[in-house]
Amino acid sequence: MKLCYHATDVTQTASVTHSLSSSNPQPSTLNSQLSTKWSVLETIPGLIALPGVWRQRFGAAFEPMKDLILRECPNLAQLLPCPRGCGLAHDIICRPDGSLIATCDADPSQPRDILLTPAEITPWEVSWSKLGHALFEVLGLHGKSAPLPLPNTLQIGAWSADGVPVILTVQVCGATFRRVVAELVARLHGRFILLAPTSYHCDAPCQELLAHARAAFFPLETTVLLSDNRRLRTTRPPGELLAQFTPRWNETDEAEAAQVFRLFGELLGMGTDLVAPPGRVFDLMVFKKMTKAETALECRCVASLITRRAALIERHFAMSIERLRAFASDLKERQRTVKGDRYARKKQGAAREELEQYDDGDKEDDNGYLPEER
Ligand SMILES: [Zn+2]
Repeated sequence: MKLCYHATDVTQTASVTHSLSSSNPQPSTLNSQLSTKWSVLETIPGLIALPGVWRQRFGAAFEPMKDLILRECPNLAQLLPCPRGCGLAHDIICRPDGSLIATCDADPSQPRDILLTPAEITPWEVSWSKLGHALFEVLGLHGKSAPLPLPNTLQIGAWSADGVPVILTVQVCGATFRRVVAELVARLHGRFILLAPTSYHCDAPCQELLAHARAAFFPLETTVLLSDNRRLRTTRPPGELLAQFTPRWNETDEAEAAQVFRLFGELLGMGTDLVAPPGRVFDLMVFKKMTKAETALECRCVASLITRRAALIERHFAMSIERLRAFASDLKERQRTVKGDRYARKKQGAAREELEQYDDGDKEDDNGYLPEER
């Protein structure tokens, strides 16, 4: 059995022990507990910890958050932050019979040996791909994620037809957060949307830097919640949240939309008896944002055929698939925003109900069409 040293276990020991000894969770609803747990990410250096630490900090949100944003590490930890609260990290020993123990002498009334299971000492870490994908989906972004040469910082996608970069950063230290903001302002040369677990590190100098770049900051804690079905949801429709980054439509846009709809109508009539009809490929690649390989799998054909269909679509619309995706997202968000405004006027002050209306009212069917489009 391989034992692996994880430095974070040591650095966390004092704070974990403090949290363990002082934890006294108050009864509350599931949602109110879950809505504030993004802050946990800013307390775990390296974003890696044993499951007991994550469970203690996330509380009731642990299981859904584990599924949504964490991944299991391949190696076992070598040190155990003391679960009895003595303030030390104890060596984990693998005995000749294969059993795992740590020893703690702090409390003479308890046995020295702490028996452990492999699951208890297998660390879990934040999966940037899972976290980025979950936020990409819930915010209705397009484009691709891209690593940035900054610590714990990732571009998770882009917003609207303007392709405004959406950046996620997770920092334990305020100085690092400010450095990330400063570098983003210097590197991106334009507007961007910055997400972080909380606004704790976004102090006045950071806000000044962001304002300089006409960028906006959104703390996940107050914008993205965990729903009862253990999935993420936004407190308001993304089109409302990010409205300042959505281009206003003018007469030229209206004319372009009319042209796209006309071309889409033509496309639907093309080769309907073929394997992978162009209309279906459009639906899978543009509305459902599938890759060519995924589309080929769905249409049960070879990927090269999808490449040909994608080229046909791009020629037909004189737009790239990526531009069509942005266009489709834009239309969808515009519709959600309009509906959200309409509902807010009807139900002033009923935020929760408004959200439920937003959640339930715009369900796509299996083909990605909104109710009005069916
Ligand atoms: Zn101990």
